[in-house]
Amino acid sequence: MSQDIFVVVEHLRGQVADITHVMLAGARALSQTSGGGVVAVLLGKDAQGLAGNLAADRVLYVDSPALAEFTPDAYQLALASLIQAQSPRAVLFGHTSVGMDVAGGLSAKLGIPVVSSCRNFTADGKFVCQICGGKIMAEGDLPAPTALITMLAGGYKAEAGNQPPAVEAVAAPVLDSLRTSIKQYIEPDTSDVDISKEPMLVAIGRGIQNKDNIELANELAEALGGQVCASRPVVDQGWLPTTRLVGKSGKRVKPKVYLALGISGAPEHVEGMDESDIIVAVNTDANAPIFNVAKYGTTMDLLDFAPILTERVRNAKGG
Ligand SMILES: Cc1cc2nc3c(=O)[nH]c(=O)nc-3n(C[C@H](O)[C@H](O)[C@H](O)COP(=O)(O)OP(=O)(O)OC[C@H]3O[C@@H](n4cnc5c(N)ncnc54)[C@H](O)[C@@H]3O)c2cc1C
Repeated sequence: MSQDIFVVVEHLRGQVADITHVMLAGARALSQTSGGGVVAVLLGKDAQGLAGNLAADRVLYVDSPALAEFTPDAYQLALASLIQAQSPRAVLFGHTSVGMDVAGGLSAKLGIPVVSSCRNFTADGKFVCQICGGKIMAEGDLPAPTALITMLAGGYKAEAGNQPPAVEAVAAPVLDSLRTSIKQYIEPDTSDVDISKEPMLVAIGRGIQNKDNIELANELAEALGGQVCASRPVVDQGWLPTTRLVGKSGKRVKPKVYLALGISGAPEHVEGMDESDIIVAVNTDANAPIFNVAKYGTTMDLLDFAPILTERVRNAKGG
């Protein structure tokens, strides 16, 4: 058994996802108490070039045609064999669709526990997790000799490494009889405005209460020169199109300002907006998890807040 902290590199179509760099920073923090190294685990086909900017001590690279595209089947088989052979202290996955798919299946396959929704590690090596949609933080010791951990964005800064780490090729296990394969990528609808490129977003959540109130957000967005986007309940109601959805099942946005009106801050939403430069939250519940990621916030009723801000912005602009 080793004290190394493994980080499973998340990448899609030639791009390393930001969550990978967040996890590497988390692994670095955890390695201070485990005493091991930070080891990035990169799975793919001719993907070795993605290792260059990983802030890891070394990279284990598994190359196989079966790993050319992500599938939970192939990832689980490849990782199971690596984990059994090297017994790291912990294996970090993104708390993302990909990470959750792999960690859950691996846990069942190997009979080892998953620590889910981990935000950060304490100086003495305990995990800190969000539970109940982020309303409660739970702290505890890493379970089992090897723990699987899914990491949320937001706990650590995503930073690339200064110099390329050493890359060690690891032979892939037999990866046949896979039950899933990628047939095609379906690109999102581009007929609407692309919220992922907008610098100013007014985001509305269930707190907006009804379709008619969306006009308040439209007016505010217009005054600010921005666009309106939404959390899932608003889109599920059909009040806004799916092109405006922010989060796990929608778009990842990085505006200069993200003004969240009546949004609780569930992990699936925060995953899509936590890299905004400035997050401002308006929520009547002072304990709403959105305030954990917001730089500025108020517990005003959004139905009072939105028209006041619209008027002040219009006045400031002279009309
Ligand atoms: C697999 C999966 C994928 C998902 N993908 C996404 C996704 O991509 N995007 C997404 O957003 N969600 C997603 N979800 C849903 C997510 O878990 C939450 O349910 C959702 O984000 C909650 O939306 P909300 O914050 O608008 O609503 P709520 O959680 O109901 O929060 C509403 C908030 O409004 C506040 N409020 C109420 N009235 C007012 C008022 N008058 N003024 C100010 N504040 C007020 C309340 O205090 C509350 O905090 C996903 C869930 C799953 C399981």
